Amino acid sequence: MDQSISEGIVGRYWHVLPDGRVQCDVCPRYCKLNEGQRGLCFVRARHNDRIVLTTYGRSSGFCIDPIEKKPLNHFLPGTPVLSFGTAGCNLTCKFCQNWDISKVRAFDRLQDQASPAAIAEAAVRTGCRSVAFTYNDPVIFLEYAVDVAQACRARGLKTVAVSAGYIAEEPRVEFFRHMDAANIDLKGFTEGFYKNLCTGHLTPVLETLEYLKHETEVWFEITTLLIPGENDSVEEVEAESRWVMEHLGPDVPLHFTAFHPDWKMTDKPPTPPATLRRARRIAMEAGIRYVYTGNIHDPAGQTTYCHGCGAALIGRDWYDLGTWTLSAQGRCRACGMPCAGVFDGAHGDWGRRRRPVSVQAFV
Ligand code: SF4
Repeated sequence: MDQSISEGIVGRYWHVLPDGRVQCDVCPRYCKLNEGQRGLCFVRARHNDRIVLTTYGRSSGFCIDPIEKKPLNHFLPGTPVLSFGTAGCNLTCKFCQNWDISKVRAFDRLQDQASPAAIAEAAVRTGCRSVAFTYNDPVIFLEYAVDVAQACRARGLKTVAVSAGYIAEEPRVEFFRHMDAANIDLKGFTEGFYKNLCTGHLTPVLETLEYLKHETEVWFEITTLLIPGENDSVEEVEAESRWVMEHLGPDVPLHFTAFHPDWKMTDKPPTPPATLRRARRIAMEAGIRYVYTGNIHDPAGQTTYCHGCGAALIGRDWYDLGTWTLSAQGRCRACGMPCAGVFDGAHGDWGRRRRPVSVQAFV
């Protein structure tokens, strides 16, 4: 028996099919497994006729990041967030920018044994305001993420999911009930992009975005990594921007970030800054109020502006904050217009630092 499968905990979303296979119901792949088989994400598997999560309590490492790195520009700006991931992924993006974690097939990288209580303790004692499930998609380690989120909220911490939003309807409800904020990757805006480059589908991601907007209180922002020649055309950015306006409204922030050649896509050049600025312009012309460029230095494209009077509310250069002209209640000090988001008095001063943390020290 595969040792790492036998160590798993039993998952919550699966059922037995008439032909004897067991179907995982966590994400729209609905993997149908025979005994001993793993799902596409590699971390869920069939063991003793049940679906188990094999990475419960095991992490690929912890780091304190700026919240802007998730990216979240309207959620407790300037504060540190204890960030971690596990292994595996339920999409197969050829352009993956975290492939050393998401594509891992051996769990020797998962060295940090981390209980939910130890993670919450580490976050509190290192001065973090929140804990983020990131680096790989937390949808696939849902049961672990939910337990960690509950432990963190019990200690007064906020919880953040960084996800592609590729999750089935029933687990979606449970997962996001335990999240205070999310960044959802909208990887492109055509079915062809999802099919050819991620072996997935666009519609479930759009359903997740609509669910978050209309049925939850989760603060969320959207990120689209623009890849030259794949999803960066004027038409595609216009279509995405129109959809966001029509289905989510003007207050959901949209980040256009720069691609760097990686994983199985090394034949494409990095995204030119001009492409990111053009996308930002298109989205703002469509009516979206908060649109940002990312992974480049572009203070004008990374500053938050008041949609009432145009004043700079939060100056930003990459992860460094400058200007701050918001009131404690998150209103423009010049005209009183509210800025959408979650603000809590003065901004934090964590800056661009990244600090690795050993959670073992807090057990
Ligand atoms: S979570 Fe993993 S095992 Fe379950 S359906 Fe998705 S890819 Fe398959």
